[in-house]
Amino acid sequence: MTRPIIAEISSSALRHNLQVARNHAPQARIMAAVKANAYGHDVRVCAPVLTAAGVDAFAVASLEEAETLQALALNKPICLLGGPFTAEEVLLATERAYWLVIHEDRQLAWLESQIPHRALQIFIKVDTGMHRLGFAPERLGEVFAKLQSYPHWQVLGLMSHLARSDCPQDPFNDQQIAVFERMVKAYSGRTLGQHSLANSGAVLSLPSTHQYWVRPGLMMYGLSPFTGKNGVDLGLQPVLSWQSEIVATRHLQAGDWLGYGATWQAAEACRVGVVAAGYGDGYPRQLGSGAAIRVAGQETRTLARVSMDMLFVDITHIQADIGSKVTLMGGEGPTLESLAQQLDTIPYEMGCRIQMRVPRSLRA
Ligand SMILES: *Cc1c(COP(=O)(O)O)cnc(C)c1O
Repeated sequence: MTRPIIAEISSSALRHNLQVARNHAPQARIMAAVKANAYGHDVRVCAPVLTAAGVDAFAVASLEEAETLQALALNKPICLLGGPFTAEEVLLATERAYWLVIHEDRQLAWLESQIPHRALQIFIKVDTGMHRLGFAPERLGEVFAKLQSYPHWQVLGLMSHLARSDCPQDPFNDQQIAVFERMVKAYSGRTLGQHSLANSGAVLSLPSTHQYWVRPGLMMYGLSPFTGKNGVDLGLQPVLSWQSEIVATRHLQAGDWLGYGATWQAAEACRVGVVAAGYGDGYPRQLGSGAAIRVAGQETRTLARVSMDMLFVDITHIQADIGSKVTLMGGEGPTLESLAQQLDTIPYEMGCRIQMRVPRSLRA
């Protein structure tokens, strides 16, 4: 028996969420974002399930992530959302037939400098207003003029990213959509017409953005991009359930102190469970006192400071003992959305925080 900590990944929830994306964007192909180790859910666990469920392509953030995915031999296109970071990466991407998102002049120069006779499929990223990556709209003419000398580079389509799709009513979306549509109209003829704009928020709420490829990430994992809503509210199923166990219990008397810093004092006699999970596993230290947590199917709260490998739970008023199952987040525990809100962050970050020493395991 090893340390009792695990993040269970639900394959049925992954399949369900992919289907929800399909239902929202029935005309589009689905490029699932699995960057950052599938938002911390483990790409090696999630990508085969999504492949078997018929996902059309994968999107990652780096060549290393692409290589991890490639090693799984899933035979789906892999798109590097940030394109190459060096000239050498162009070479490897060409060998592997990765799709590159080109957003900068220096990337065009790298393309020109590397074996320019091998076929290469690219997206041209256009900055429609987020001002993160992409060529300014007025520069696209120049970019496409340059590309004309390299007919073996196939431009799949134009790509852009929305800054405010978490807030579908925001007119900022309309502005970005209008710019994108204008660019599509002007340059589509020089591409294969495989344009892409929508991430999860837009898949769910902005149908005019769906184009040829949609690029959902967060919703694949059953999480909601919209503040004040859970994945379940959107018809999604949470994929991750982070579990551990109580490995020791304590009876405290009124006045006893608990944990590092002796910062928490028992106001009355109480019973405490010690759980084998801590900030070294990615459980946020800020959730140390009073955060919701589920123990043996009953809701309770954390107590005192979170240690690196352990944390405390209040089991005074619940049925629990050594060996009782603890759900830290997801599954039947508190939602990642609710904990994110408490931490003043977004659900995107929650899975990414879970360290690799927590094994991910697939369940039906
Ligand atoms: C991460 C990312 C996505 C996926 O976004 P979600 O909001 O998780 O659906 C799509 N496109 C780009 C360019 C991204 O970086």
